[in-house]
Amino acid sequence: MNIIPKKPADVDAEHDADENKNANLAKEDGNESIETNDISVACYFWTAPSAILKEKISFRGLLESDGHRFKKSGKGHKCLCPFHDERTASFYICPNDNYGKCYGCGWKGSILDYVMERDQVDFNAALKILTQFYEHGTAVNRIVSSQKPSLPGEVYVPSESQRTVMADAAIRLMDDERLQHRVADPRSWKTSTILKLAQEGCLGWDGALAFIYSTGIKFRNWPKKDFFWGFGHQSLWRINKLETASSVYLTEGETDAISMIDAGFENTPGVAVICMPGASSFQDAWAPLFRGKTVTLCLDNDPAGEAATGKVAELLHPYATRLLTFNPREVA
Ligand SMILES: [Zn+2]
Repeated sequence: MNIIPKKPADVDAEHDADENKNANLAKEDGNESIETNDISVACYFWTAPSAILKEKISFRGLLESDGHRFKKSGKGHKCLCPFHDERTASFYICPNDNYGKCYGCGWKGSILDYVMERDQVDFNAALKILTQFYEHGTAVNRIVSSQKPSLPGEVYVPSESQRTVMADAAIRLMDDERLQHRVADPRSWKTSTILKLAQEGCLGWDGALAFIYSTGIKFRNWPKKDFFWGFGHQSLWRINKLETASSVYLTEGETDAISMIDAGFENTPGVAVICMPGASSFQDAWAPLFRGKTVTLCLDNDPAGEAATGKVAELLHPYATRLLTFNPREVA
């Protein structure tokens, strides 16, 4: 899309002119609820495709959950436009919260148009994503899709239908409290930890416990130990946590990572717990992802774990700012 954004002063002037025009027309009509510019008309007459979307999902709430910060402006609110680069806000959400318009690039539309544009999906997919957002406060499909493998070299990118399997597994675990107990209880984890991981889109249930990677899905016949890959290739579990973390705990299995998350290791801002799929599975190409981070290796206290600690430390040494080890040892 070729966008030539307008100047901030012009944006505000245009929006103010819209509001004034509405106010005058309302006076002439003697009817304050009728407004006639396109954004306001859409506010009043746009009909949502389902009652859930119309009444339950706040357009502004969705944008806020996407990281946009709003300021009050006239009768509505404005934020930086999600669809063009700008320093001064020109994206307005109308007063009754179901229609947005950018006075900079000209984008306008409903919450569904927004999701279609944001995720580059069709109407039905957007509807599904919004329904998930309503039911879970998050859109698992989108999280699973956004866990794009950022590993250098050749990576496996799951197909659209595989991503659906991944998202559905997370949703199944999210929706079923008994399943959350079935996962949590054998390890005395909190069900809230399991729910959080499912909401993140990295843990699910599909006949077995599902560890959802950006590059595929790995099953475990829980609480037994046998693993099998449903599809895809191994990478780092919760790889998307790496981007924003300054301190990373790296375990050698998903369950160790879950135990540390359950114990509150991630309650400190900037800390992430991620895992490599096994002691000897760390690949050279993953090391640069740890550039500039404090990395604490939490591998098993056995000969295989010790050997892996040495190998991984050597690979990470050129990149990590600090390398530490942490070996929880069972004492009873
Ligand atoms: Zn814009």
